Amino acid sequence: MTFEAPLPLAPYAATSDRSRGRRFAEAPPGSRSEFQRDRDRIVHSTAFRRLEYKTQVFVNHEGDLFRTRLTHSIEVAQIARSCARNLQLNEDLVEAISLAHDLGHTPFGHAGQDELNHCMREFGGFEHNLQSLRVVDHLEQHYGAFDGLNLSFETREGILKHCSANNARQLGDIGERFLQNRQPSLEAQLANLADEIAYNNHDIDDGLRSGLLSMAQMSEVDFFARHLRQAEEAYPGISGRRVIHETVRRMINALVVDLIHTSQERIAEAAPHDIEDVRSAAPLIAYSDAMAAEATVLKKFLRENLYRHFQVNRMTAKARRIIAEMFDAFIGQPNLLPPDYQVRTGADEAQRQHRQARQVADYIAGMTDRYAIREHRRLFVME
Ligand code: MG
Repeated sequence: MTFEAPLPLAPYAATSDRSRGRRFAEAPPGSRSEFQRDRDRIVHSTAFRRLEYKTQVFVNHEGDLFRTRLTHSIEVAQIARSCARNLQLNEDLVEAISLAHDLGHTPFGHAGQDELNHCMREFGGFEHNLQSLRVVDHLEQHYGAFDGLNLSFETREGILKHCSANNARQLGDIGERFLQNRQPSLEAQLANLADEIAYNNHDIDDGLRSGLLSMAQMSEVDFFARHLRQAEEAYPGISGRRVIHETVRRMINALVVDLIHTSQERIAEAAPHDIEDVRSAAPLIAYSDAMAAEATVLKKFLRENLYRHFQVNRMTAKARRIIAEMFDAFIGQPNLLPPDYQVRTGADEAQRQHRQARQVADYIAGMTDRYAIREHRRLFVME
């Protein structure tokens, strides 16, 4: 196989001419595919630029070398594209989904998402996946003809990875699969697993860089220890940054190769003719059972040793407090909000409040880490 240029797409790949289309009809793009156009709209969006100052584990100001949501999204796109080329899937679609998948994330990573969900408990909750869809469907204001980016169904389907049944019922065609237990395109399935490969591995890298994890501790995980040994055998005496990178790159490669081979086997067995067959089959993009077990051990290790490290907990506690205090201040006194976010009308007071709460959630979710810290200070500190 040559890797210089993509092979023809498999018959079950997503393509522009088999797309389920956009919410608002548009003339076909002249010099690009529909999914290239989606990707370009995402890259030019405001929400995409904000990803540079939003984080997952480490807050933005803790160090310049840690991953941000922007670099994370680029890493996801890179891994997903490599796999897509091997599987003869649509690279442009996996790239669009990967670059958009975190657009709805709050400031301060999961701490921010959990707290905002808690604040919104009486107003329909907050799910970051749903918020990513909300960003591309409604919140971006770039085009004369519509709100949002008016992306293709397949890109939107890939962005909405999870969804509660309750929310799915309100989403029309894009929510159907959660109620009918059907799968999204292979491109969407692939972007989802590429996300996991990217964050597990870069969290190890960032965890070691920060000193919150040690090499000795990481070596308790057999998957890490094996690849560390391989790196040391290839380069005796290797140490410092190089040994971390040589280990992590081997882990990423092992996951990617396993994912490609296992998915090829599953696709061959299910023999889908087209994307509709893919949607009604079991998930076809997967690791082998052995690799899935290794990935689970790794995730559990990171949860216990990095995401719940006391220094991370301190940052998480501060982040949650900032989000909760801003939410309460804005709900208690909406005239503290920028005018665009103030809701003055509704069929009744309950509906007005409901709408107001959603506007507050949109405002807070759109903030970068540093903007949230500054806005909190502007609300609570007389300077
Ligand atoms: Mg992600």
